[in-house]
Amino acid sequence: MNQKRHTSPSRRHGKHKPRPTSLASAPKVAFDGAKLFLQEGRQRSLLRRHPWVFSGAVERLEGNVQSGDTVQVCDAQGGFLAWAAYNSASQIVARVWSWQAQEKIDADFFRHKIARALTLRKDLQLDLHSNGMRLIHGESDGLPGLIVDQYADVLVLQLGSAGAERWRETLTDCLQELCQPVCIYERSDSDGRVREGLPKRSDVLRGQLPQDLSVTENGIHIAVDVAAGQKTGFYLDQRDNRALIGELSAGRDVLNCFCYTGGFSLYALRGGANTVLSIDSSADALQLAQRNVELNALDASRAEWQDADVFEALRKLRDQNRKFDLIVLDPPKFAPTAAFAEKAARAYKDINLLAFKLLRPGGILASYSCSGGISDDLFQKIVAGAALDADVDAQIVHKMNAAADHPVLLSFPEGAYLKGLVLRVAG
Ligand code: SAH
Repeated sequence: MNQKRHTSPSRRHGKHKPRPTSLASAPKVAFDGAKLFLQEGRQRSLLRRHPWVFSGAVERLEGNVQSGDTVQVCDAQGGFLAWAAYNSASQIVARVWSWQAQEKIDADFFRHKIARALTLRKDLQLDLHSNGMRLIHGESDGLPGLIVDQYADVLVLQLGSAGAERWRETLTDCLQELCQPVCIYERSDSDGRVREGLPKRSDVLRGQLPQDLSVTENGIHIAVDVAAGQKTGFYLDQRDNRALIGELSAGRDVLNCFCYTGGFSLYALRGGANTVLSIDSSADALQLAQRNVELNALDASRAEWQDADVFEALRKLRDQNRKFDLIVLDPPKFAPTAAFAEKAARAYKDINLLAFKLLRPGGILASYSCSGGISDDLFQKIVAGAALDADVDAQIVHKMNAAADHPVLLSFPEGAYLKGLVLRVAG
């Protein structure tokens, strides 16, 4: 009996206690630069090709290194695991550039990685639908901390890691060479930069920024302010979701909450919505939204714009007994990390509950979360709780994600931040 218990599958797979010795050390690779040694057994996530090394996993650093420099990440025995960018200021102390021992992290490496990301977008034929798209999606395109968005002839670069910052000039040169834009603009001003110990920066890097920049997405013209707009200027990730809402809008009274520059509203108006009420707390975004209605020669008399806090506005609409046939909820990131999940869950539930109450029977709710800290499952549970409290039966008719120019690397599930549920309430 004892014998049998010792060889049970759970034991063999080390379920009850870690068995670091079962992980054979990789071969050593000679390197003049600094080496980052992980603690015994802490190489597991890297062996699964997850590209982050957390400071808690590190045993020691050997050699001199500045933040942003390339280090060799090794297991406890000194076996090669990866080449990574080091950052002493961040909890993510290293972000992997490459898993190949023979790789050299230099200008050619970055040119090759960027070219590969561009080829993916070409292969997907994304340019048939839009001249605004994400060209490089950080970790998911093998370039941790690097975001590059294309708006017509302009590229916007966002550097969110010390490694990407270290290679700023090289990355800019490669992008200029491969894409030949009229302008490369840097929008390295996200709050994430502070966590990485990097100053915020926003300026023209190459060329000149055109006065009136716009993209054409599924035939809809959208003015983009890359210098002062949110993120890099526009929410490219919602492209497919906006198209779906356009298809569902005919003859409906639509409410678009957190409308920014009017994305969903423009599609709804073109799709034949009866009326579209759009709400956002940014006056600048609303101004651009109204310009977008003109750019597309849409019927402005069917559009109403409210500069308001959505949480308050939804309550007012409820008190006024206003009703809608289609509601879009696309709030900002309430939970950047799992630590904020509980507070965020309350906010999501609040707006979803109010939205369910504002829907006519047979109405549609399109509800999104771009919070990395809220999983798909949790989001669905929150929305289910809201429907229950609102006393409505609802069916999921579409599960949505970010568009294909925001790919998700299988080994980096954190890349799948945007989730959406399109629901129909019972008629
Ligand atoms: N749906 C948009 C993107 C929305 S981004 C698109 O397709 O382009 C989130 C928006 O929420 C931003 O425009 C921001 O200004 C707005 N916002 C953030 N908090 C808000 C609040 N409490 N009330 C109203 N708008 C808010």
